[in-house]
Amino acid sequence: MKIYNTMTRQKEEFIPINPMQVNMYVCGPTVYDFFHIGNARTFVIFDTVRRYFEYRGYKVNYIQNFTDIDDKMINRANKENITVKELGDKFIEEYYKDADGLNIERATINPRATEYIKEIIKFVEELIEKGYAYEVDGDVYFSTKKFKEYGKLSGQKLDELQLGARINVDERKKDPMDFAVWKSQKPEEPAWESPWGMGRPGWHIECSCMAYNLLGETIDIHAGGVDLVFPHHENEVAQSEARTGKTFANYWMHSAFININNQKMSKSLNNFFTAREVLEKYDFDVIRLFMLSAHYRTPLNFSKELLEGAKSALERLYNSINNLENLLEESCKEKMDDNDKKYIKNLDEYKSKYIEKMDDDFNTADAISVIFDLIKDINVNVNVNSSKEIIKYCLDLIRELGSPLGILQKSTKINLDEEIEQLVQKRQKARKDKNWDLADKIRDDLKSKGIVLEDTPQGVRWKRI
Ligand code: AMP
Ligand code: ZN
Repeated sequence: MKIYNTMTRQKEEFIPINPMQVNMYVCGPTVYDFFHIGNARTFVIFDTVRRYFEYRGYKVNYIQNFTDIDDKMINRANKENITVKELGDKFIEEYYKDADGLNIERATINPRATEYIKEIIKFVEELIEKGYAYEVDGDVYFSTKKFKEYGKLSGQKLDELQLGARINVDERKKDPMDFAVWKSQKPEEPAWESPWGMGRPGWHIECSCMAYNLLGETIDIHAGGVDLVFPHHENEVAQSEARTGKTFANYWMHSAFININNQKMSKSLNNFFTAREVLEKYDFDVIRLFMLSAHYRTPLNFSKELLEGAKSALERLYNSINNLENLLEESCKEKMDDNDKKYIKNLDEYKSKYIEKMDDDFNTADAISVIFDLIKDINVNVNVNSSKEIIKYCLDLIRELGSPLGILQKSTKINLDEEIEQLVQKRQKARKDKNWDLADKIRDDLKSKGIVLEDTPQGVRWKRI
């Protein structure tokens, strides 16, 4: 498998630290509000990366944090007149509702920054001991000049960065590029005891610390949205490698933004839609198909038209599933014949192509095209004369290729409850009796319940809409 590594700016063969295991850390949300559909893209992308590794037989330790202490958390909690802890609890709960709604698998662990204060203090102490950090009036700063490779992730040189940072220099810092790893308490702020007085951790240190404590000194993959490359991930590299003297992460993955009118969707620009709003109108299959139809390193514009396009594309896929589910009931032939066996070889070529695309830096866009080609082929070649065995094979294959993307797992069949079952029977009888008015009325009643009937030479078919 090949992964584009931000650190080296090239695609590299993925070699895990432990055979067939992936230790992966993804920067999660700051839990001060509902997350928007831009954040959701990042979460869906790395959920897909994780699912695909699992599909290829890896065991994945997937850590995604909750940032539950920072300026945004404090401001919002003050505004709502609740504690920062209460605010965090509330929006973590809301996060799970929306993430489950988007069919995002639960992480192995979702650590909260405030659960790691003791470990963060230890981290900062070690940085001071090693001469990489210094204290000024209760604040502790990381000394970027001391870390010779500072700038290597974002491909910038420290002296160039220093020039850019001269405005707004905090006088207490030794260098404009130094950043806080510990912040002293300001009035009305939550704080913890530390060797430097009451205070709280800086943002960057929390991820370095939780990755270290949960996954070890060197991890396989560190991931997040592209806005995190600098300064967040650059600073994480500096702190972590200063502490351990080892490579922090072997692969750095960054996903591109969701934009609106070519501008990043963000809370501060007020140009966002929450995931919850979008989930009210569209199924998660539609949203995931929309997001995964572009490569994860390509920005994606958000528009109603594109979502509607994804919706009709998905309908084509589910129509094919529906057709196969019906054929499975209607076919009279159990076992495959020689032709079917030859056809399986043809089907498996689609699977190989799909794997080839996904192995190439998770090219979901091309992998989805392969699924569409597969479905076209099946639609032409599989019919009521095909064996149940081959029909089942097709259905399983479509679902198999959909599962790393988190789509196409639903059945178009629902269990008809008794009332609906009786209505279908009653309509059959009405038709037999040539009572067309009654038959039409029952059909309309079923439609209002979301059930569509189709009369076919094989009998009455129904599906959910
Ligand atoms: P935040 O809660 O702002 O720290 O963001 C959580 C995650 O969403 C981070 O990995 C961000 O990089 C990512 N993110 C923020 N805005 C967008 C966007 N418009 N499109 C894609 N990802 C985003
Ligand atoms: Zn982070």
